[in-house]
Amino acid sequence: MPRPTFPSYADRCGWNAMLPPRTPRPALHGNHRADFAVVGAGFTGLAAARRLAELHPQARIIVLEATEVGEGSSGRNSGFASPTDIPGGTSPAALASAAAQDRFGEEGFNWLVALTQQHNIDCGLHLSGRIKGAATERGEAIVRSMLATVQSLGLPHALLGPDEMEQRIGTRYYRLGLFTEGGYLLDPAALIRGLADSLPENIQLHEASPLQTLRRDGPHWRLETPAATVTAPTVVMATNAAIKQFGHLRDRIVTIHTYAAISAPVAPSTFGTQSSWGLLSCHRLGTTVRRVGPDRLMVRSLYAYENGLPEPRVRDELRRRFHRRYPALAHIDLEHVWGGTTALTLNGAPWWGQLDQGLYGFAGCNGSGIVKGTVLGKRLAEQIAGQDSTADILAAFGTPNRIAPEPFRTLGFHTIAAIERRRAGAES
Ligand SMILES: Cc1cc2nc3c(=O)[nH]c(=O)nc-3n(C[C@H](O)[C@H](O)[C@H](O)COP(=O)(O)OP(=O)(O)OC[C@H]3O[C@@H](n4cnc5c(N)ncnc54)[C@H](O)[C@@H]3O)c2cc1C
Repeated sequence: MPRPTFPSYADRCGWNAMLPPRTPRPALHGNHRADFAVVGAGFTGLAAARRLAELHPQARIIVLEATEVGEGSSGRNSGFASPTDIPGGTSPAALASAAAQDRFGEEGFNWLVALTQQHNIDCGLHLSGRIKGAATERGEAIVRSMLATVQSLGLPHALLGPDEMEQRIGTRYYRLGLFTEGGYLLDPAALIRGLADSLPENIQLHEASPLQTLRRDGPHWRLETPAATVTAPTVVMATNAAIKQFGHLRDRIVTIHTYAAISAPVAPSTFGTQSSWGLLSCHRLGTTVRRVGPDRLMVRSLYAYENGLPEPRVRDELRRRFHRRYPALAHIDLEHVWGGTTALTLNGAPWWGQLDQGLYGFAGCNGSGIVKGTVLGKRLAEQIAGQDSTADILAAFGTPNRIAPEPFRTLGFHTIAAIERRRAGAES
C-alpha cells in the first residue's frame, strides 16, 4: 500500500458539521504549469498564497489541498487566536522574546481581522479575554507565578478564586483562575472557509488533490496528485507535520494528535455569567475548555505521538473530562468528537524558510497556528519575493532543536509524556 502523504481523520470536524454545507473546489486534473504551487490550504498555505498573489498579481498560483477546506487542522482547532501572550517571565531576555513574538502576533492578527472585515467572513471573532485555570496545588503555583509577571508588567488582570470562577464559568472545578485581556475566540472552520472562498482571482484552489510525489525536474519542481501534475519553479510546502512524508524536517518536528469535542446544548445559565470565555490550562498537557455560543461547551484534551488514539477511548476520555468539570451535566453527551494533528518542535520554535532551491516550507507552530501560521505564511511569501525577513523571524522565534533519532525519540517522548501526564493530574 502507498504511504499516506496527508493526515486523514475518522470523524468530521465538529465546527464544520455545525456550519451549513459547503461545496468544495474541484480536484485538479491534467498537466499544469504555475508560477507558484502551494501545498496545503490551512492558515499557513492560504496566507502564503494570498500574499504571493498580492506581490505578483500576474502570476498563476495553484493551491493543492489533500482533503476539504475546514477538515484539516486549521478547521479542527479550538479557535483561540490572540495577538499577544503573557511573557514567560520578567527577565530582560524573556520580555524581549515576548515583545518580538507579539509584534508578529499583532501583524498576523491584524491581517486576519482586516480580511474578515473586507470579505465579510462571519467566523464569530470576538474579544473574550483569556483565563489560565488551575485545578491543583501545583497548578495554583504556576498561576501565581503568571500573576507575578502580569502584576510587574502592569497588565490588566483579575485573579479569580473558586467562587468567582463558578460565577463566571459555572463550575467549582478550578481553585484559581487568572483572567487577562487580549484573548480572542472564533469559529476556526468558518474562518478558514471564509479565507479560502475569498482568495484573489489569480489563485486556483483545488481540494481533494493530495500531493503524492514532489521531485525536481530541471529548474522546476514537479508535483503529482492522483489526477494531475503541476510544474512550478517555486513551491511552498504548507502541510504542517505532513512535510515529513516528503523527506523534510524529520529531525526537527514530531506529529502530535490531539482531540476536541462539543457538547449537546444545555440551559445557557449552566456556563456562568460571562457570555463568552475560553480557559487554557496552566499545564501544557492540561485540558482547554471554552464556551461555544450560549449553550454548548468545547473540551480539548489528550495527546498522542505520531499515531492517533482509538475513537471510543477518545470519546470516553473527553466525556469524562467534561463531566468532571460539570458533574450536574452527567446526563448530557458530547455531540461532536474529533481529532487533529499538529507539528511539535522540541523547543517550541517553528521551522520556517527555504528547504531547497525554489522550495520553501513552514511547520511547527504547535498549538498557536491560527495567528502564527498566518503571519509566517505571509512572511514566507515576502521572503520568496526578495523582501528578506529572515533575521527578525529567527530573532523572535529561534530555530527548532534537532530531535534524537529513533528509537530514542519514541522512547524519550513516551517517557516525558508519562511524567507530564502524572504532573498534570486533575489539570487534564
Ligand atoms: C484539536 C486542536 C486544537 C488546537 N487549538 C488551537 C487553538 O485554539 N489556536 C491555535 O492557534 N492553534 C490551535 N491548534 C493548532 C493549529 O490548528 C495548527 O497550528 C494550525 O492548523 C497550523 O496551520 P497550518 O496551515 O500550518 O497547518 P494545517 O492546518 O495542518 O494545514 C495543513 C493543510 O495541508 C493539507 N495537507 C497535508 N498533506 C498534504 C498533501 N500531501 N497534499 C495536499 N495537502 C496536504 C492538510 O489537509 C491541511 O489542510 C490546535 C490544533 C488541534 C489539532
